[in-house]
Amino acid sequence: MSHPLKQPLIIGGGLAGTAAAIDLARAGHAPLLLERETAPHDKICGEFLSGEAVAALVALGVDPIAHGAVPITRVQINAGPRSVTTSLPFPALSLTRRVLDDALLDRAAMVGVAVQRGTALRSLSAATVHTTAGDIKATTLLIASGKHDIRGLPRPPGPDQIGFKMYLRSARLSRALANTVAVTFFDGGYAGLQPVEGGRLNLCLLVDGAQYRSLGDWPALWARLVREPGLAALADAEQVLARPLAISRVPYGHLVPIAPDGHWRLGDQAAVIPSFCGDGMGIALTSGRLAAEMLSAGATANAYQRALFARTRRPVRLAMTALGLARHPAGRWAAMAGLGAVPGALALLARATRVADPGQKPRGLAPA
Ligand SMILES: Cc1cc2nc3c(=O)[nH]c(=O)nc-3n(C[C@H](O)[C@H](O)[C@H](O)COP(=O)(O)OP(=O)(O)OC[C@H]3O[C@@H](n4cnc5c(N)ncnc54)[C@H](O)[C@@H]3O)c2cc1C
Repeated sequence: MSHPLKQPLIIGGGLAGTAAAIDLARAGHAPLLLERETAPHDKICGEFLSGEAVAALVALGVDPIAHGAVPITRVQINAGPRSVTTSLPFPALSLTRRVLDDALLDRAAMVGVAVQRGTALRSLSAATVHTTAGDIKATTLLIASGKHDIRGLPRPPGPDQIGFKMYLRSARLSRALANTVAVTFFDGGYAGLQPVEGGRLNLCLLVDGAQYRSLGDWPALWARLVREPGLAALADAEQVLARPLAISRVPYGHLVPIAPDGHWRLGDQAAVIPSFCGDGMGIALTSGRLAAEMLSAGATANAYQRALFARTRRPVRLAMTALGLARHPAGRWAAMAGLGAVPGALALLARATRVADPGQKPRGLAPA
């Protein structure tokens, strides 16, 4: 296998990698994208698409509505017996990653990206990329492997938390949560629940590793979740997957301010915002589009990484602070009281953790 020098090589066909690839191809480059999975598959993700993410997808030529996305117009926050519901300050959607990522890969191929599914990067040495299909010489390398680290380029390990995802069927829950994302905070974690296409709901949660190990297994964790007032309705839901998807030690708060080795880091490889914000996909798309724009303009990887850092550091740090608050019962009580007492407080928080797409001015707590 060979690839001409100076052609951008993108590792990972998730949101960040495909966004970069599509924009690079549309700008006249000939990127090669390697995606290790051979076929569409489920991914651990809450599948909440923020307004920014939706706008970026449409700009890339992928309309989530045309792929069956469900409109999400309200957010419900639960903690213990308290519950606050409000309208979202932006139109949001919900679409499974199985469908969304496949649509983006198809779109990339359509605009001229050389998409190679079923090929994984194994390791790097100088300008040589060792893949499962052979070695490639690449001078411009965009790392968009998301939750999976490249050998030799690890991100710092995240906190001892485990993420789980399960699809559900429940007529009662589907009615109660029509067009609504519900986020439930509990001792040792939080869970997001929302409808997705096909009449199912996506339950995605994070739980402290120690709590999970003391419970022992998924059925025991499920029984624990059902005892939360905000999640009691799970009791009569059918679990659609044979077993949940799981991930551990996501490095929340990870930020990359510079590119020490000259590689362009995109998406979760560059910035990891706590999942409850529902903005990881927006950041991934923004990073991919920004990388393509700056690469086309002749910028260095370092300039790109600094620009992305400037856009992401405040939303990520604000979300980390909110997450720290939510971990403590007193913090949850104060936050729920504040959200209930100040109309629009939830909307303000949601706005403050958004990251703008390239071309837009950052909104909310924009970088100084
Ligand atoms: C529990 C949880 C819930 C979340 N919920 C939401 C949410 O509701 N809304 C939201 O916006 N964000 C959410 N996120 C965050 C979101 O999933 C990520 O931020 C987003 O997927 C990052 O996109 P990415 O393109 O960087 O990586 P990914 O989507 O992980 O894509 C990376 C791709 O690279 C491929 N790959 C990996 N290694 C290699 C390799 N060596 N060679 C070739 N290919 C490789 C993978 O197969 C994958 O397709 C959540 C995250 C978690 C953990």
